[in-house]
Amino acid sequence: MSLTTKVLLGMALGIAVGLFINILGLNTSGSFVNVFVVDGFFNVVGKMFVNALKMLVVPLVLLSLIGGVCGIGDIRLLGRIGSKSFVLYMLTTAIAIAVAIAISAGIGIGKGMNIESAAEFSGKEAPALSQVLIDIVPSNPISAMAQGEMLSIIFFAILVGVSLLMVGEKAKRLIEGVETANEVMMKMVGIIMAIAPYAVFCLLAKAMADLGLDLLAQLIGYVLVLIAILLIHLFVTLQVVLKVFSGLSPITFLKKMRNVQVFAFSTSSSNATIPVTLRTVTQRLGVDRSVGSFTVPFGATINMDGTAIMQGVATVFIANIYGVDLGISGYLTVILMSVLASIGTAGVPGVGLIMLSMVFTQVGLPLEGIGLILGVDRLLDMVRTAVNVSGDGVVSSIVAKSEGKLNVDVYNDPDAGALTTDEAIHLDAGGSDVATARG
Ligand code: ASP
Repeated sequence: MSLTTKVLLGMALGIAVGLFINILGLNTSGSFVNVFVVDGFFNVVGKMFVNALKMLVVPLVLLSLIGGVCGIGDIRLLGRIGSKSFVLYMLTTAIAIAVAIAISAGIGIGKGMNIESAAEFSGKEAPALSQVLIDIVPSNPISAMAQGEMLSIIFFAILVGVSLLMVGEKAKRLIEGVETANEVMMKMVGIIMAIAPYAVFCLLAKAMADLGLDLLAQLIGYVLVLIAILLIHLFVTLQVVLKVFSGLSPITFLKKMRNVQVFAFSTSSSNATIPVTLRTVTQRLGVDRSVGSFTVPFGATINMDGTAIMQGVATVFIANIYGVDLGISGYLTVILMSVLASIGTAGVPGVGLIMLSMVFTQVGLPLEGIGLILGVDRLLDMVRTAVNVSGDGVVSSIVAKSEGKLNVDVYNDPDAGALTTDEAIHLDAGGSDVATARG
């Protein structure tokens, strides 16, 4: 059985078991199932797995980007990759939210509904754009790495790569060392992915067992419209963009990205998914590492199509409930704000709501409105994160193809870079030789 099939199976079983526990009411606080199974076993295994993924993010991004820059050897190409991916990321996010607003305003979602705010929501401050720009340059790279500040890490890595190239011959050994270290990190991604089927099962069983299904019934209209628009974006808009800009096959893309989507869905975090996205984009889709090692972490930070869609739908929904007419200029502000907000906020669970509070403050919608949708956001966060990472994959492929940095044979080969469980933990002859020699 391929790893993808196993992961999908883990996902389906996890959802089924979680819903079973939820619907039968076994997950009441303090009960055996709650303490030992849901908050015990599922929670511990799931969180250990997410930690393992997060553990790889910083070293992987740093090493693969330094190696990637050294591999390009052309500073202008670097500039082109940066600007192309930035424009595409912003463009797809703007399309996503514009479509979301148009559809939900057209349907009149939330009109005539009368529901009380279910939970308190206190809006957290999202960073100002000026601060985001300042922070791109880390005053202390070690602290930036410790905090996982992606844009600063990207900046530092590029600078190191460029400097290594400028030092030239003398730095050759160091560049080789970076390459080897990067390979080691990629192997670690393989090892961690091998346990994914079980971890995904635990993550989803816990998420589903905790879901507030009663709230779901009340907000079913909002949830369904949002999920429908997310799916339209994933299967139509992004695929049209991929086909038009690169000519690559959307079917192949979707097949190969399935693993990444499941990881994003289970962890609700584009950031934690970076190792899997990076592996898939470079080894399965054939994107050269010089492009992928930049576009993937960059996208995980600044590209959030799914999140933007949520913000569009939520704005219309809550405006309608509170009877506020935002008008065209209000909606344009929403589009602009959410595109800007996506630049400064990292892809971690639940950050979309913080961005939403920023948007609401700007257009004068009451922040308590966010309390209305809080209860169902956990589920929606999962779906929109899967859309976010798919956008990262699309843009990486387009940019790589346009620069002649995509290996079309690898892209079209269904088995390229596929990981089987056996292979992931297989110690090859080279590895055992070293072990024997040392022993
Ligand atoms: N969880 C999302 C992500 O990591 C962000 C969000 O919508 O809250 O991409």
